[in-house]
Amino acid sequence: MEFLTEQVEDIVRCMKCGNCMSACPVFAVTGREAMLARGRIQLLKAVMNGRLELTDGLRDVLFTCLNCDACSLSCPPGIRVDELMKAAKAELLRLGKPLPEPQDLLKPGVAYKELQMRIEFVRSFVESMRGLTDHHQIALSAAVRARYYEDALAEGQDWADWCADGLIDICCPMSYTLSFGAFAQWMARHRRLTGEGDVTWLAGIGLKSSAGELPLDEAERQICFARRADADGIALFSAAALDDAALELLGEIAAL
Ligand code: SF4
Ligand code: SF4
Repeated sequence: MEFLTEQVEDIVRCMKCGNCMSACPVFAVTGREAMLARGRIQLLKAVMNGRLELTDGLRDVLFTCLNCDACSLSCPPGIRVDELMKAAKAELLRLGKPLPEPQDLLKPGVAYKELQMRIEFVRSFVESMRGLTDHHQIALSAAVRARYYEDALAEGQDWADWCADGLIDICCPMSYTLSFGAFAQWMARHRRLTGEGDVTWLAGIGLKSSAGELPLDEAERQICFARRADADGIALFSAAALDDAALELLGEIAAL
């Protein structure tokens, strides 16, 4: 296979040690050798030797690689499987092989696997941070998506689970909205999802955020509501400097 000529050296350097098993997020979820760096290399080797065709089934397996490069860090010869996969994917496209269809993601099984992979991948990153912060005896905080079911889970941020498992010390859902109704609804949900355990729940309020600029009287309303909702603290976010009127008001609220 011509497209693999530049990758031959990498392909033959794999010594099948299996170190990549602990690194690959796709393998962690699927448990399938074909979706592990080692397995992917063996599949390409078979293609290179003419023992395997670039079939649609093989395409589906190759396209599950996230190109995250996590495996090369634990690979003794430092093989860049992500680069191998990019070359293979480019070849599949050149051959006019149809990509996995977007509607595939509408199949509950496929969507579930996709979601599970993201959640596992992001969680493994938080676990690494937990290890690091524990080592240095510092608290670990996370500013997370406010809409847990709609946005956070879809992006792999299962922060309710992180709170329940003690992976983070401080959880700050970024509740940036100009709508008081939405804010009030989120507060009730965040209280429940951050649990009653040791995690400190900070209500994140956006004064100047992607949601827009919160009028000062609305900011005061949200701050007072978060206090009544029993938030452990409040984190104010502003993408730009606050003027004197805002600082004065915040000072007054803090003194209450
Ligand atoms: S860690 Fe590297 S050398 Fe070892 S099996 Fe995986 S890809 Fe091959
Ligand atoms: S680059 Fe692909 S094979 Fe390597 S760890 Fe990421 S998903 Fe797994």
